[in-house]
Amino acid sequence: MKGLKGKNVLVTGATSGIGKAIAARFAVEGANIAINYRNDPEKAEDTEKLIEEMCSQVKGCGGKEMRVEGDVSQEQDIIRMCDEVISKFGSIDILINNAGIQIAADSHKLSADDLDKVLSVNLRGSFLCAREVIKHFLERGNGGIIINVSSVHEIIPRPQYVSYSMSKGGMENMTKTLALEYAPKGIRVNAIAPGATETPINEWSNDPQKKQKIVSHIPLGRTGNTEEMAAITAFLASDDASYITGQTIFIDGGLTLYADFLKPWSAGE
Ligand code: NAP
Repeated sequence: MKGLKGKNVLVTGATSGIGKAIAARFAVEGANIAINYRNDPEKAEDTEKLIEEMCSQVKGCGGKEMRVEGDVSQEQDIIRMCDEVISKFGSIDILINNAGIQIAADSHKLSADDLDKVLSVNLRGSFLCAREVIKHFLERGNGGIIINVSSVHEIIPRPQYVSYSMSKGGMENMTKTLALEYAPKGIRVNAIAPGATETPINEWSNDPQKKQKIVSHIPLGRTGNTEEMAAITAFLASDDASYITGQTIFIDGGLTLYADFLKPWSAGE
């Protein structure tokens, strides 16, 4: 993809699932990757191994790599993390706000602590990372790119996961607001909204029966994979998407088209 070679990319939550695949995909495009891990450097090592494996098959793949520790629910961690990347790579060109968690609970039983936990990683953390890189983009000039990893639950309500739905709903407006505010400075802000994707965040990933239930709601008849999420993230960050800002691209096999409506449902049909 155009314009990714040599770019400095910070991926939060790059040690698992979608974030790991995004880190590897940007490496394949020749970018320099800062792999954010929360507390376990061995997990970052796994991402490095994946990059190495993928790069062994692709010419021109792989720039520099670094590990950067940081919990995105902690403001000071985020500030330090961005400083570390800027001092090692010289700048940040692309931020991928990927780190995310979910906590299940009936909404009337959801504790304030659990609500805060989810919002502080998924929404507050993403905003603070964006804030820090935008400061950097403005200081150095020449624009910059932010991609937020949202979810189909940006628009689909999710009972028992109200904190997650709130965080991704908020992310939609955060994406649009930052895109509008900083468009005159050449900063593009977009989001991807994955549908059901096989990663450790989903317990159904290893349960064929539960998975089949999920698949029945997906018009394309299968769940998504992390490479599909990474490909669109790389596209949005590339020069091929130079005229796109403030958008959320749904990568969901048609989930948001509501498969149940394939069958006749209204009176008289
Ligand atoms: P995952 O495999 O559980 O990965 C989540 C990543 O976020 C891990 O690397 C995790 O690190 C990191 N993380 C969690 N809390 C963090 C914190 N406080 N600071 C820094 N990193 C933190 O899940 P995933 O499915 O790849 O999820 C990635 C993103 O995709 C999330 O934003 C999620 O909401 C979104 N998404 C996923 C799906 C899906 O079906 N999988 C669908 C829609 C949207 P540790 O392992 O160290 O905690």
